[in-house]
Amino acid sequence: MIGRHLLGVADLGGREGIEEILRLTDSFVEVSERAIPRVPALRGKTIAWLFYEDSTRTRLSFETAAKRLTADTMNFSVSSSSVKKGESLRDTAKTIEAMGIDAIVVRHASAGAPHRIAGWIDASVINGGDGWHEHPTQALLDCYTIRQHLGDVAGKRIAIVGDIKHSRVARSDVWAFTALGAEVTLVAPPTLLPPSLEGWPVKVSHDLDAVLPTVDVVYLLRMQRERMTEALLPSLREYTHTYGLTPRRAALLRSDALVMHPGPMNRGVEISAAVADLPRSVILDQVRNGVAVRMAVLYLLLGAGADRIILPEAEELSRA
Ligand code: ASP
Repeated sequence: MIGRHLLGVADLGGREGIEEILRLTDSFVEVSERAIPRVPALRGKTIAWLFYEDSTRTRLSFETAAKRLTADTMNFSVSSSSVKKGESLRDTAKTIEAMGIDAIVVRHASAGAPHRIAGWIDASVINGGDGWHEHPTQALLDCYTIRQHLGDVAGKRIAIVGDIKHSRVARSDVWAFTALGAEVTLVAPPTLLPPSLEGWPVKVSHDLDAVLPTVDVVYLLRMQRERMTEALLPSLREYTHTYGLTPRRAALLRSDALVMHPGPMNRGVEISAAVADLPRSVILDQVRNGVAVRMAVLYLLLGAGADRIILPEAEELSRA
């Protein structure tokens, strides 16, 4: 059962907690498919976004999720705020809280920033991605998408390919996939792996061609050029040659294997344009499921609690 904050996958309560959220997500997928995809579950609650790093999917997804739950939203744009005048993270967080919010979704370039904020304010804090560290709601939507297409995450073989070193998605996914009983193999050149993998419940390979025929899911990571301060690769072309999912490589996959990517994609680098558009690429399903998963997370953090799950019909809202 989820507590007051969602800072990392460890806050989800292991396999049981993750499965509870995935089950609740089923209900919010159903809500999202209604003619009026809205329930008054969080009416009167206010959720703020504090995004210090760029985001398309995560911010819009949380915003849509909040609106579908009838919460009020407050968008704090760092680029046009007092942060530009040098306001500290603590002062900014306390200021937003003073306006009366129930939750704040934080994205920051520094690992641990949402954890610091959670120590300063009373509202719930949700990590929307902190540096190379974690991105827990991405992991949940990835688990949900695998379960939707393959029935279960348990027992599945999943290859996570690419820039593991700089990827908060890889870190959160490894913990969530393995908590649910999947077997994870990291596939990357040694320079794009973390310096130590001690304690990571994973296998490692440098040979994508050998791994592809053995997996149920190939999960490609974006080459995070903005985080690479040193020369880790001879060239991007060389990377694509060895680790890019080209049509030739995709043909090595089993017929029911999925291709996933957290977005934004670098078409032609880690994934070829043709492979990105194959029916087995479920990248847009990941985006779609992200809204319902975030509705479930917001509901569990701010709503009545898992023991009192009531999902009012859309008509009730129009009467309200
Ligand atoms: N959108 C994901 C993130 O914010 C993945 C990426 O940017 O590559 O971590």
